[in-house]
Amino acid sequence: MANSLVGKNLEEMREIVAQLGGSNFRATQIYNGIYLKSCKSFDEMTDLPKAFREQLNEQYVLSDVILKDKQVSSDGTMKFLFELSDGNLTEAVLMRFDNRANLTACISSQVGCPMGCAFCATAKLGFKRSLKTDEILKQIYLIQADTGLKVTNIVFMGQGEPLLNLDNVLPAIDRLREDFKIGSRRITVSTCGIIPGIRKLAEIKFQPTVAISLHSPNHEVRKSVMPVETKYPIKDVIDELRKLTVVTGRRVTIEYILIKGLNDSPKEAKELCELISKLKCNVNLILYNENEYCSYKKPDRNAVLKFKCIVEASGKKVTVRLERGADIDAACGQLSSKYSENSKK
Ligand code: SF4
Repeated sequence: MANSLVGKNLEEMREIVAQLGGSNFRATQIYNGIYLKSCKSFDEMTDLPKAFREQLNEQYVLSDVILKDKQVSSDGTMKFLFELSDGNLTEAVLMRFDNRANLTACISSQVGCPMGCAFCATAKLGFKRSLKTDEILKQIYLIQADTGLKVTNIVFMGQGEPLLNLDNVLPAIDRLREDFKIGSRRITVSTCGIIPGIRKLAEIKFQPTVAISLHSPNHEVRKSVMPVETKYPIKDVIDELRKLTVVTGRRVTIEYILIKGLNDSPKEAKELCELISKLKCNVNLILYNENEYCSYKKPDRNAVLKFKCIVEASGKKVTVRLERGADIDAACGQLSSKYSENSKK
């Protein structure tokens, strides 16, 4: 496979183009063709001379990650399945919320996930490997090239635990800011609670939003669905997050998937209020996205409203995430599962 150019910064692009006998100006044209115009091919970069495009076609490809499948929901949510150069698959979701111009891409940081959360379709895939920096970026490029739309917000909430792949995720975030022009405040990294990773973020005064997949304030309940709780209990994680907010000045987002009969009771809502009372945070309640790979159910509307009221009464800002892509395989891991012979049990 020829070398691929998506993921290269301007300086790297200049070096490559110089080797082909081209000027810095030509490098900027290719750079803009990728990051500003999301051209699908060198031939779409019509500001480049034809002979130079041919030279590029002979020696390079734009992306060695390819779009393998795409599903579009009736609400506009799109799910993308990507094939990596080694044949592994990973996925991303593009969401547009009513009345907002923002386009949020939920991207992956790994192929599969090693964390084994019981309610997660990705966990059923097992863990294959971490994504490299350019593979993370190629997800955004391919989404923009396919749709012709500009992604404005990024959430690392697809396959994988981003804090286990900080060596590639942190450089990818730098490139998202510099090359894709997506500001720190529009980037969210979600973790299930990897304490060494949170400490690393504090060390570098990380400015994007950090979200914690909390899902139960109760040690026993959380442990029963999230094995990470055994190693990093949520109380300790919250302590680390508190330290993080002190050095970054940023608010943490609490992600709480409400699952019927598991964690949606008023008792758990009160326990949650207590746990996060001293943490500078907002709370995002998410209705469980039912899927054929896990037997958990979506909560009743009344339970959601009650839970929300209790947490709001404690003084926290609470949002309930709108359900997106219910008619497609929008839950993380579902689309890859369809392509994986071994994922169904
Ligand atoms: S919920 Fe997140 S951390 Fe847990 S298994 Fe799924 S992808 Fe991994």
